[in-house]
Amino acid sequence: MAVATFFAVHWVGSVFCQTFFLHRYGAHRMFEMRKGWERFFHLMTFLFQGSSYLDPRAYAILHREHHAFSDTERDPHAPKFFRTPFSMMWATKVRYEGYAARRVEPEPRFDGGVPEWPALDRLAQRWSTRLAFVAAYVGFYAAFATEAWMWALLPVHFVMGPVHGAIVNWAGHKYGYRNYDSDDESRNTLPVDFLTMGELFQNNHHRYGQAPNFAARWWEIDPCYQVIRLLARLRVVRLPANVQRMRWPEVTSAPAGAAAPRRAA
Ligand SMILES: [Zn+2]
Ligand SMILES: [Zn+2]
Repeated sequence: MAVATFFAVHWVGSVFCQTFFLHRYGAHRMFEMRKGWERFFHLMTFLFQGSSYLDPRAYAILHREHHAFSDTERDPHAPKFFRTPFSMMWATKVRYEGYAARRVEPEPRFDGGVPEWPALDRLAQRWSTRLAFVAAYVGFYAAFATEAWMWALLPVHFVMGPVHGAIVNWAGHKYGYRNYDSDDESRNTLPVDFLTMGELFQNNHHRYGQAPNFAARWWEIDPCYQVIRLLARLRVVRLPANVQRMRWPEVTSAPAGAAAPRRAA
């Protein structure tokens, strides 16, 4: 039970930090928050992503490239150019490291406007720090695993961030339905995205990249947006007024028998 709980908390915490902090806040600036809260969520991202922490600036550059070049040869992770999710994620990792280590200069339009905390980002990306998290995960399993099969879950903790990235970037541009016709291959994989807290609404998100609610139709549910709404009520974050009034455009690629959209962002 302890192992299952630990796995679930690590999965949900890590995916929340990725979609809420790195993606929607860091890369897209869909909402605002004060510096103190930004630091709080930056620290939370470090603690939850642990051994597979992603630098917000490098993440944002790669992600902005993904939107600009979606499913073309310049996309950092278009599944149609790779045979497996592993080869795709390896190529993404190599490109990510160039930006994270500042060996590669991005196009200026993809840089800037990201949360930066140089001391924490340096500490988080040291090998000694990553290995300390790995040791902590192993220690937890050594103390609490009661069945042999539980150990099969352990390696997932080491690479939690890339596991979520692989699911979203592979499935979200390969499997599922489309609400909007577009030049790319983006798909909505799950109508209720319980796996990655809304990230699997890739087709909706590529259609309107600044909408904080990734769910476009009344029967779609984006769990992270529900958390954002709650945080906005608590005045932790501020959603821009034009975004609060935004309505999703009519669907142009409707699945058979589906209802018209009526959900506001
Ligand atoms: Zn995408
Ligand atoms: Zn995005």
